[in-house]
Amino acid sequence: MSKYFVAIDIGGTKISVCFFKKNIIAKKKQFKTSKFGPSNLTNVRNYLLTNNKDIAAIGIATTGLIHKKKWSTLNRNMIGSFDKFPIVNFFKKKFNTPIFAIGDTHAASLGELYYGNGKNLKDFFYITVSTGIGGSAVINKKILNSDKKIVGQIGHTVIKYNGKICGCGRNGCLEAYSSGTAIEKKINKKLKFNLKLKEIIKEHIKNKFVIKSLDEAALALSESIINIHNILGIKNFIIGGSVGLNNIVFKKVKFFVFKKNTDIKLIKAGLKNDAETYGCLAYSKFN
Ligand SMILES: [Zn+2]
Repeated sequence: MSKYFVAIDIGGTKISVCFFKKNIIAKKKQFKTSKFGPSNLTNVRNYLLTNNKDIAAIGIATTGLIHKKKWSTLNRNMIGSFDKFPIVNFFKKKFNTPIFAIGDTHAASLGELYYGNGKNLKDFFYITVSTGIGGSAVINKKILNSDKKIVGQIGHTVIKYNGKICGCGRNGCLEAYSSGTAIEKKINKKLKFNLKLKEIIKEHIKNKFVIKSLDEAALALSESIINIHNILGIKNFIIGGSVGLNNIVFKKVKFFVFKKNTDIKLIKAGLKNDAETYGCLAYSKFN
């Protein structure tokens, strides 16, 4: 019996564990992310230990930064504070298999490049809009890197000078305006709801304040997309993440981009929420 390649996607809301057989997800398990960072990793490791014999290799995609097999979170409000945490060693201690870790947006862009909607594109910029906002540039079918760090942190570029404080410490970052967390917080505060963004969009999409908030978030995103286009000349933008993939949000972003720039093409991530885990698979094969 051939063994599985296991891909772990650690995000701000959930952790996905996918067991790949060839290029197909044979088994998938999800965990809710807790604010208490270390318990997230222990839960996943314990779960994998019950499948120990069936695992050929493990690939990990995380939010934040991976540098020299160590993990640092950028927005510490989401998943706890990890500063140069030896995430690969944490799993290596219990598994005698090859293990690697890469950034989740890096992974998602690789997934789209090899298995998704980037397959036929030479250049594209991948943006994930979810709990946070990440980005990665693919130029000439290669991910743009600098000193092994992934370039493209669009979420932490300033969209409003002296604006709202962001979890990274800067003021006015795109993530502070257009991430799922930011939109949800704004609407819940004003309308005295205690709902997830998904529920807000489903149940209150006709509410004027909800429409206004989504428009503002989409407008900020569209301006950031045009900024990237103006700097790098990239025309194709692949949008992923649970918020970015939402039809209403996606259409609004497209509308605002098209109003100012008709060269830019916005495409939804073909692998949807599995872009990150497919990216780990691509990394294990092609890197
Ligand atoms: Zn920031």
